[in-house]
Amino acid sequence: CPYSSKGEEEGLGMGGCASKPAAAAPGDGASKASTAEQVGGAEGQEKKAVKEPFVVRVMSTEAVGQGVGSFQSRTYSGPLPEWLPKAVSDHEAGLRRLGINSKEVMRMLRDELWGSFKVPMRLITYGEFIFLKSIPRSGSGTTKPISEIPPECTIVLVSFPWIRPGEHPDDDKGTMHSLICSAVEKLAAQRGWDLSTVVLWVDFCCIEQGSEEGRVKGLESMRAFITVADAAIIPSAHVPGESDARYVHLLPGGCGDDGWTRLVAMGMVASGMMRQLEPAELWVAAGEGASFLERYGCLMGELPSEGVLPHPDDKARVRQHEEAFVKGMKAAMQSNGYVASHQGAARCVAITPPGGEFVVSAGDDGVISMVRRDVGSVHRTFVGHVGGVICLAMSRDGKRMASAGMDRTVRVWDVEGGREAMPPITEHSEDNKACTCKHGAGENGDEYVEDEDCPVAGHSDYVRCLCFSPDGSLFASCSDDRSVKVYSVNTGEERGALKGHSRDNPSCSCRFFPSGARQEVDRECPVEGHGDCVTCVSWSASGASVASASRDTTVRVWDYARSGAVKGTLIGHQGEVSSVAWSPVHEDVIVSGGADGTVRL
Ligand SMILES: [Zn+2]
Ligand SMILES: [Zn+2]
Repeated sequence: CPYSSKGEEEGLGMGGCASKPAAAAPGDGASKASTAEQVGGAEGQEKKAVKEPFVVRVMSTEAVGQGVGSFQSRTYSGPLPEWLPKAVSDHEAGLRRLGINSKEVMRMLRDELWGSFKVPMRLITYGEFIFLKSIPRSGSGTTKPISEIPPECTIVLVSFPWIRPGEHPDDDKGTMHSLICSAVEKLAAQRGWDLSTVVLWVDFCCIEQGSEEGRVKGLESMRAFITVADAAIIPSAHVPGESDARYVHLLPGGCGDDGWTRLVAMGMVASGMMRQLEPAELWVAAGEGASFLERYGCLMGELPSEGVLPHPDDKARVRQHEEAFVKGMKAAMQSNGYVASHQGAARCVAITPPGGEFVVSAGDDGVISMVRRDVGSVHRTFVGHVGGVICLAMSRDGKRMASAGMDRTVRVWDVEGGREAMPPITEHSEDNKACTCKHGAGENGDEYVEDEDCPVAGHSDYVRCLCFSPDGSLFASCSDDRSVKVYSVNTGEERGALKGHSRDNPSCSCRFFPSGARQEVDRECPVEGHGDCVTCVSWSASGASVASASRDTTVRVWDYARSGAVKGTLIGHQGEVSSVAWSPVHEDVIVSGGADGTVRL
């Protein structure tokens, strides 16, 4: 189905499997550059110290308008710059167009920040930090107030338990300093940050250590500092094992027990919620040269409020911060109904059976996000797909999830473990070494003929829809390659395929015209499957049959379990059939919806 443009899809709606995702690379949607551009007058800002620091947030609304709100935001503190009123009014116009209550969002953010910026945030540039070869003291004059940091800078918060509280946080060899540097450089390479624009917030050098009063003010500002950070790195003295869960509070060696470290983790999740962003990046670094560097999660419900804190007063401060974060998160959810965000469109959503505890969503960014429905915190993300995820399905017991999309692979996940339960079911492609099909045929050189004995079980084009069988042992998938397939949930083994009329199906005797052109199905062709992309699948209540909807305007009923043949073709739709569902009790009742705007029973 070579759609030439995204526009062709308009009018088909967002839901279900019908819309073709824009073939954009993940991350295209919201870039820092555009954020900086919107507030481009920032250089003109005066850099005088002010008596009472104020903070204003300016948000750009890239990647919004595709069903999910998503903001890029930056914080400025210092005197009110001249460009600001216009930027705010432009921004508000953007929000109005999108139906978002900007006053609500702005008030929330302002209260959040004004209420907790007890002392201006001071940062150290990475260039200076690495040059010092050791973590400097706050009194060494190496930090700059945030008002002097250009808006395009990436702010990285570094949070770790001190080796000896009250003394220097590092050992004599500077192990912590060198680990921080390695982690920052490795992460910068991975995330595409320009190292010359990275600034760090590290407590020993960025919070006043000399006076008790200064230290307390710094601690009381922690919430604000966390809220403006782009990412957090937690240097850990111990390398987590392969089997360790990837959550901050489970970090080995006591790092995850530290009250401040856990507050940072929680704060990053919460501020992500409040800013309508995917929770900010939380990374754990450990080992020589940060050989271990992984993105970690934070389980809000399981994170106790009181970690290990040397000073008893700090417990109250951590508690206060946590309460404020939770309050802000709840307000953010109530005012915007926001749960998760994707870069690009969110393509498929589900609420997990059996208890409905989590909301699962998949999007064009290739990420599957699992969010706690009560507080809105990200429980975990499932990363593995390359390219947009178009569909996902949960097994009835909630233990398995299947996902698929633009990378043509089908993946089955162990929901509890957060990992893939088996190797992915891969595509037929020239690049797939296991595939024995004949590739390179046709005038475009991209066509192929399927080898009946090819061991590859996957599809050869976008996978559109997935559905578990009622007993949970099998799942069906369908694809733009015109086929419907059935797999075992436990092994991924292909248990059946309803192949369509297509060039790559050796059984098909239809004639095909050069690329893109539609063709009629030949009357003599023995193939029973679809003549165009298959958009949706549904199992019958007994699990004996699978119904599939297609762009070929039909619904086919495949007697999967008994004869393996198509036992009926339902016609009537005047155009693509984009959705199909089988009655949960009646074996002879199917409903379908199509691009013609009709729903047929
Ligand atoms: Zn193959
Ligand atoms: Zn055919």
